[in-house]
Amino acid sequence: MLKMWTNSGDSHFIEPDDVWTARLPKALADLTPKAVKDPDGEWETVSVDGQTFRRRLPSSAAVKFVADSHRPQGVRDPAARLADLDREGVWGEVIFPSLGMWSATFRTPELLRACMRASNQYALEELLPVSARYVVTGQVSTLRPGDAVEEIEWLAENGFRAVFLPTTPHPSAADWNRDDWEPLWAACEQAGLVVAFHIGTDPVDVTSGGLGQTYRGPGGAVMNYAETTFSGQRAAMKLVASGALDRHPDLKVLISEGGASWIPFLGDRLREGYRQHHVAVRPKLSRDPKEILMTQVYASFQHDETAVPTCEALGYRNVMFGSDYPHMEGTFGHTQKTLQGLLADARPETRQRITQGTFYELFPDVPPVPASTDVIDG
Ligand code: MN
Repeated sequence: MLKMWTNSGDSHFIEPDDVWTARLPKALADLTPKAVKDPDGEWETVSVDGQTFRRRLPSSAAVKFVADSHRPQGVRDPAARLADLDREGVWGEVIFPSLGMWSATFRTPELLRACMRASNQYALEELLPVSARYVVTGQVSTLRPGDAVEEIEWLAENGFRAVFLPTTPHPSAADWNRDDWEPLWAACEQAGLVVAFHIGTDPVDVTSGGLGQTYRGPGGAVMNYAETTFSGQRAAMKLVASGALDRHPDLKVLISEGGASWIPFLGDRLREGYRQHHVAVRPKLSRDPKEILMTQVYASFQHDETAVPTCEALGYRNVMFGSDYPHMEGTFGHTQKTLQGLLADARPETRQRITQGTFYELFPDVPPVPASTDVIDG
């Protein structure tokens, strides 16, 4: 069997612990998250941006789960990462940051803006120079649109090709469908930056200590896993229905880790709503909402069995594979096996589209994947 090289629309990196404190003036650095564990190790006191709260530390099983999920060395070491990618047969990657989950707890706009710049500066200095295969997403404040626009301009000047946005903005800011964000969409289109939403990034109230737990009780683990995907669908819906993508036809959106088959389904619903409730629809769009969704929104999946038929039979072409390296939901350790299982019976042009073509449409300056000459074990 020949190695099937693929690009990835969904990968992750963990910044060093001092990525913010090392780059911020002391007054702002003092406001970044700090945690002090109790001697018994069951609780900790967290302070962030002038707020203090107590939270129970995760159980040892949860700690092990997270540790296993971040085991590969390449998640912290950008040079070592390349060996992991080569072994897995992953070439170019959209790489998301990890510290963004804290941003919902920041109340001071200057702090959030400075932290995002520090993360971007780190990516510029330590990640981007390592390999042209790394498409590292920049980060922007979602607390103030003006700060976001300024950062988009900095990102574009410094060679970034994508910006990560959480699936819902900061809790005290307007939602994505509001006109407040119009300058951000205009800036991203103007700069040619892909807007990359990663599922499951709605702001979390960390003071509640219930990270990623919407449901408890029977079925909770599966329900919580499935729940994360809806946030990506909502973000795409807001950008289509509000007319943001209609007004910016060159703006491209990537929804990572959320599967692909929901796009034609959601397109049907948006088209139906637009037609059946036409008297109530504001703003009017110049194009069919399903067409806007199907052409300007791209989807990265890892295991979804319906992704290939979606691409082949439902007319949705913007499907790409994503390894979700290094997370346990991802394919690290068995990427080739997963690809073979998903794509062995696909048409050659579909395989090409999902593993390479869709990704290169968004990121044409990533170098071409090597020829598939390596023989690997089935
Ligand atoms: Mn992911």
